[in-house]
Amino acid sequence: MNTQWLEFTDNVKQFYGKDFVPLHEPTFNDREVEYVTDCVKTGWVSSVGAYVNRFEEDLAKFVGVKRAVAVVNGTAALHIALKVAGVKAEDEVLMPSLTFIATANAVSYLGAVPHFIDVSINTLGVDADKLKIYLEQIGKLQNNQLYNRETGRRISALVPMHTFGHAVDIEGLLKVCDMYNVTLVEDAAESLGTYYKGKHTGSFGKVSALSFNGNKIMTTGGGGAIVTDDDALADYAKHLTTTAKIPHRWAYEHDEIGFNYRMPNINAALGCAQLEKMPLFIQQKRELTKHYEQWLADIEGVQLFEEPANTRSNYWLQTILLDEQFNRDEVLAFLNEQGVMSRPIWTPMHHLAIYQNCPKSDLRVTEQLNKSVVNIPSTPKSEG
Ligand SMILES: *Cc1c(COP(=O)(O)O)cnc(C)c1O
Repeated sequence: MNTQWLEFTDNVKQFYGKDFVPLHEPTFNDREVEYVTDCVKTGWVSSVGAYVNRFEEDLAKFVGVKRAVAVVNGTAALHIALKVAGVKAEDEVLMPSLTFIATANAVSYLGAVPHFIDVSINTLGVDADKLKIYLEQIGKLQNNQLYNRETGRRISALVPMHTFGHAVDIEGLLKVCDMYNVTLVEDAAESLGTYYKGKHTGSFGKVSALSFNGNKIMTTGGGGAIVTDDDALADYAKHLTTTAKIPHRWAYEHDEIGFNYRMPNINAALGCAQLEKMPLFIQQKRELTKHYEQWLADIEGVQLFEEPANTRSNYWLQTILLDEQFNRDEVLAFLNEQGVMSRPIWTPMHHLAIYQNCPKSDLRVTEQLNKSVVNIPSTPKSEG
């Protein structure tokens, strides 16, 4: 690590005015205090209240879909999105190996099996061209349903993930899904405020999942949402996430085994305030990208990852790609020692013992990115 790297870490610390710069922190002001205080003062902190409805309406409008159902976290949103999309036990679900564990776990909760596919170096998300060739090799259509010839299992859904807020080639993926009658469910947990050809991510899938965990572009403390244009699916998602109770003034009747996944009102209050600030957060994150372009310009062999063509990114987590001359862990050790908090990408799912026996395609780009991706501080900051 040379003087260029030291200049880089100095620039980051100077910009944030800190000796230790965290990877990502939530930003709050009086608006959050006002809404949350309102919940506490009125006593409406829990499972019913006006902020949940308001948050669902505001969120649907922001994403450009008919309906949003707010839930306790993004993992629960994925679980229910996959269930209402029709994923059944023993099905296989196509997904990147390069994702946060929630994507694979949600599939497992349904008794289905994750099937890992490779990503593109241009988007960091599922590679549509490679997927098409792969399905030609391992898939067969029977009664208009796709089956894996090798395992005999039905392949019912594809869950692309918009990595670090960069949109995947969603049109390419939709074509492959149409060809094989596979349901598209987007893991849009990282991409609130990200657009593909002017249309918001999460609005392409039959149903999609969002997350509002503390480290995401906006937070509800913990939280998530299911979004869809399909009223029947939204109603079913709402029913399933509220213990499948049949509405009645006093009777406790439940018509299937549901889940207690509803977002509490106090979290939704935080969410309403945060959502108002999304345009500002995105603007600040995009300005930060411009700074990083300058600060990294002099470092040989390091590339700042920028939004793919035809997309507009929320730049949730700023990302650098290291070329072969670097050892990722040495770079991570240096940056963290200098007080510039940095993280590797998630361990690919197929490297984990719990998922190592799942079906998978050739994953060479995944392996390459696993060695070269480093996330650097990304908190939106006001300048002036
Ligand atoms: C954050 C995230 C989720 C959901 O996480 P929760 O912590 O349960 O809200 C799902 N998938 C991806 C890719 C994520 O980054």
